[in-house]
Amino acid sequence: CGIVGYVGPQNALDVVLEGLRRLEYRGYDSAGVAVLAGGELSFAKKAGKVANLEKELAERALPPATIGIGHTRWATHGGPTDRNAHPHLSADGTVAVIHNGIIENFAALRAEVEATGVEFASETDTEVVAHLLAAVYPTIAEGEGRLAEAMRQVSRRLEGAFTLVASHAAEPDTLVASRRNSPLVAGVGDGEYFLGSDVAAFIGHTRNALELGQDQVVELDRARGVTVTDFAGNRVEPTAYTVDWEA
Ligand code: GLU
Repeated sequence: CGIVGYVGPQNALDVVLEGLRRLEYRGYDSAGVAVLAGGELSFAKKAGKVANLEKELAERALPPATIGIGHTRWATHGGPTDRNAHPHLSADGTVAVIHNGIIENFAALRAEVEATGVEFASETDTEVVAHLLAAVYPTIAEGEGRLAEAMRQVSRRLEGAFTLVASHAAEPDTLVASRRNSPLVAGVGDGEYFLGSDVAAFIGHTRNALELGQDQVVELDRARGVTVTDFAGNRVEPTAYTVDWEA
């Protein structure tokens, strides 16, 4: 229901939690975050308000990180429990995913993934995306844009409406997002990048936004900046605009 992503020099958890609080007006039943530090993804997720998540984080601190994602959920598949809250991780822990919307063909995809021996940890339609990304990633040639290519390949297989944001343990400088019939905007600051389901997610940090189109994948990379493609991999020029309302 609410999505935030951050790559930059600041403490990612602070930026992500601030974004989640600014998105609270949208309504939700659970909240969660994941950060990537030292080649490992760490996460926390809780049913209820962002305050519940913050309480959990006060008791069990995540490692300091400069890349992170956050989500507030409005449950459609699976009850509003801690386990079903986002982010969802692949079984091998290499991929963390947050999602707004509904993956209509998740049951068939889940059966396919389960047939490879993977056990699911939640009842959501979302979790299958984490496992699919983890499975396809090693089949893509090493080099720049590997996670983005994995996201394109997986997105082409998905039916329904989605905004997806993914982080991979092997890509400490990169966040990737995908969009079909669900909102997604990117924010560009000074050496830092944001993702949001709404500009409210990052308005405290930058007013420079990029509008992303349907069926597009965006990669935010510390060194390479913003790269947008369609699901086939063709480069697309995003539309830049300035957010002009008061925060
Ligand atoms: N369908 C997903 C779920 O139930 C995402 C819901 C949302 O948009 O928050 O977990």
